[in-house]
Amino acid sequence: MLYANIIVDISHEKLDKSFQYIIPAGMEEKIRAGVMVKIPFGRGNREITGYVIEVTEVPQFDVSKMKHIIGIVDKSIPIESRLINLAWYIKENYGSTMNQALKTVIPVKVQTKSIEKKTVILNIDREKCSEYVQRFEKKHAVARLRCLKELLEHERLPYNVITEKLNISSKTIKDMEELGIIKVISEKVYRNPIKNKEQRKYEIILNRYQKKIVEQIRNSKKTVHLIHGITGSGKTEVYMELIDGVLKEGKEAIVLIPEIALTYQTVIRFYSRFGDKVAIVNSKLSKGEKYDQFELAKKGRVKIMIGPRSAIFTPFTNLGLIIIDEEHEGTYKSENVPKYHAREVAVYRAMENQGKVVLGSATPSVDSYYRAKKGEYALYEMTERAKAAKLPKVYVEDLREELKRGNKTMFSDRLNELIKDRLKRREQIMLFINRRGYAGFVSCRSCGYVMKCPHCDVGLTLHNNDTLVCHYCNYTVSTPKVCPECGSKYIAAFGTGTQKVEEAVKKMYPEARVLRMDMDTTMAKDGHEKILSSFADGEADILVGTQMIVKGHDFSNVTLVGVIAADMSLYASDYRAAERTFQLLTQAAGRAGRGEREGEVVIQTYNPDNFAIEAAAKQDYKEFYEREILYRKLMEYPPCYSMTALLITSKDEKLLQKGSNMIKASTEEYLGANRERTDDIRLIGPAKANISRINDVYRMVYYIKSEEYGKLVEIKNHLEKVFKDNELFKNITLQFDFNPMGGI
Ligand code: ADP
Ligand code: ZN
Ligand code: ZN
Repeated sequence: MLYANIIVDISHEKLDKSFQYIIPAGMEEKIRAGVMVKIPFGRGNREITGYVIEVTEVPQFDVSKMKHIIGIVDKSIPIESRLINLAWYIKENYGSTMNQALKTVIPVKVQTKSIEKKTVILNIDREKCSEYVQRFEKKHAVARLRCLKELLEHERLPYNVITEKLNISSKTIKDMEELGIIKVISEKVYRNPIKNKEQRKYEIILNRYQKKIVEQIRNSKKTVHLIHGITGSGKTEVYMELIDGVLKEGKEAIVLIPEIALTYQTVIRFYSRFGDKVAIVNSKLSKGEKYDQFELAKKGRVKIMIGPRSAIFTPFTNLGLIIIDEEHEGTYKSENVPKYHAREVAVYRAMENQGKVVLGSATPSVDSYYRAKKGEYALYEMTERAKAAKLPKVYVEDLREELKRGNKTMFSDRLNELIKDRLKRREQIMLFINRRGYAGFVSCRSCGYVMKCPHCDVGLTLHNNDTLVCHYCNYTVSTPKVCPECGSKYIAAFGTGTQKVEEAVKKMYPEARVLRMDMDTTMAKDGHEKILSSFADGEADILVGTQMIVKGHDFSNVTLVGVIAADMSLYASDYRAAERTFQLLTQAAGRAGRGEREGEVVIQTYNPDNFAIEAAAKQDYKEFYEREILYRKLMEYPPCYSMTALLITSKDEKLLQKGSNMIKASTEEYLGANRERTDDIRLIGPAKANISRINDVYRMVYYIKSEEYGKLVEIKNHLEKVFKDNELFKNITLQFDFNPMGGI
């Protein structure tokens, strides 16, 4: 016998509660996750509708007490149903529970925060009214009388005015409603996080390259289209033209933009063309606000949703187009379970709706470019800037040579010269540090001791020169004066952080006004935006920052970009390190010379011969790609191979070891039983994860690779079952990460 787990009326019910029903004989074929069914509910067996979220052979409770599904609701497929199917796809392909997948896909209504406006209106004519007035007077029903008289005068009043100002209880209102005298109507008030919107006349006329791409995409039978176009080549204009076409067909569009690039500048471009058809979500919205935006989309009151990764789940009913700008960005992959990739989800949604996906980037991900080369995606190239701005001139400076010449500063002679020149000419400079954090680890120069977090297997990093912080658990201590190991005074931070660069800049160029942008300075709300706009307004000469500064704003007065140490991201221990380095450097370089004056870029490095750095200096994506894809093929890495990383964690180190070995044994057993189809499978590990402990939880990692993604899904399903069925795993967690973006 088969059983269906069903949730009723999704937007009101808590998602983690499902009800189990028997699937009647003969209906097994038709009832799957996502199907809308009629079920008897509650004591009175009232017939209601619900969505099947899972079909199982395992009953959750006494089958003799379980009710039967009445039947399938057949009408047009409601959006919830499609989203449940999507949740199912995500659960299946990335590994998670159905509940985790549902919560990812369907925004949960937050009861407390939803705003409703209730109004009370008079529901009877004047003649009837005077009858009631007499009756209430006789009965001395003063509250009712007061309410009625006010309504006679105003006809409609806000609910809260009646309760608060007229002092009438909600019970009285209810009684009067039951008598048919009044009616209470409630309207939802939608919160809109965007202020100052105005639609302006649209004036840009697409150039012939843009027009051609728009036409080709419109006429193509392919689902996915990749636009490889340098920064400023006019991709955004192409997106907007495509959206315009989709709206005219009565369909909707989703635009994904990395959170960091979702600036006022970008948003306003969409507003000035599409006005209030546009809605925005971002991670700063409250849950209630996000829910409201999604409701607007569901009701068709907005047609374009712009936002970061999770905007891909906007419940449009007639989705025609999904744009993914900066498609190479790592943030499109979820870092939480289910670890889905928005690009893949976009393709799924587009196929389901017969819509299209348009990916755009100046430095496409190796994955997408590979698919485009294979013909799976259509490929378009935009090689010139839309406004006649010239590409910048790039210099690569070898830091080893600088040191040989006796230059011990952070700035190569070339960069130093150019900075001075720009300061004199009153043009702006961006200095970019190719790493996420601050200064590097703190260690003893005498004995080599590294200050580590006592709860995590990571070094502590220095903040504001006096505290050490763990970026994984926030453990904080003050910086010791002497080495805890050998007592030496020479304990110091290694590496180059934004703070150190800022200090160095201030020392070398005391006349310059300097702004710094990193995690520390952007912590406050809008911190990010404030720094960028003050720089755009010319309030500083030099902006020092991490990769945050290379995205978003267009600074027309920036004519010099310096990359202080280009190599940092090369040392990351994962197969995408070169790709990320190339992308960051190319983007940083693309920041120079966005205005009329030509820009210059200085890339400082210890590895001038590294192919990613060489290709970035030449701004040559194809050269980079050809080299990189050879390496991926040779090493059997994505996109040539599919890969899943299993992160296995536990507080108990011994138990973790045992559990990991068991997972390995169980995988091997599975492969043994399916030998004829598994010779392309590779198993690596289990081994300690890069960070082998976080917050006192131990971490192991295990990799499985295959030529076919589907086989990895099969193995995942097998392992999930083993995991569920075995007592040993009670205190162990298992997470899958398909085609991971970073090291684990
Ligand atoms: P991308 O998205 O590729 O970085 P944009 O679409 O932002 O490029 O275009 C870069 C700049 O050129 C913008 O200021 C944009 O308004 C302008 N632009 C793009 N296409 C045209 C065009 N056909 N005519 C005039 N200006 C254009
Ligand atoms: Zn020491
Ligand atoms: Zn820690």
